[in-house]
Amino acid sequence: MATTDRQATTLALAHALSAAERGLPVIPLSRTKLPALRSPHRGTTDPAGVPCHGECGRFGHGVHDASTDPARIRALFAAAPRATGYGIACGRPPHHLIGVDLDTKSGTDSSAALRELALRHLFTIPATVVVLTPSGGRHLWLSGPPDVVVPNSAGRLAPGIDIRGA
Ligand SMILES: [Zn+2]
Repeated sequence: MATTDRQATTLALAHALSAAERGLPVIPLSRTKLPALRSPHRGTTDPAGVPCHGECGRFGHGVHDASTDPARIRALFAAAPRATGYGIACGRPPHHLIGVDLDTKSGTDSSAALRELALRHLFTIPATVVVLTPSGGRHLWLSGPPDVVVPNSAGRLAPGIDIRGA
């Protein structure tokens, strides 16, 4: 089992480096799809009330750890021996990636809801990378405009449509 985990980590690192080579900042993820590195500030209360986004110089700040630098990515994965996947930080240059998560849970037809939004607001959904999720949903990946910040949202555009942006 330990060997299998190590192989999964090695494979995740290889894929993460490949994504980074294409300009996508990455972090190691655990089997639960959460950041594989725990916060160095767990259990501590910051007296200033300002959350650290990596200014302390240590790993463990989730999406703020994300990098396209191969040396830093290798160091992140070395510090996360139980990582089995990788995550991409959306909204950052050069691609300004936007993830459109179309859920099918609780009977919502989010694909139809997106088509309806497109008709109502007169836009077309461009041909793009689509990932089919194990639960029957879809992830549409788009590059966004550099001068617009697209925030995360869940169910705001329509039920079952989540946006992953900056
Ligand atoms: Zn910190």
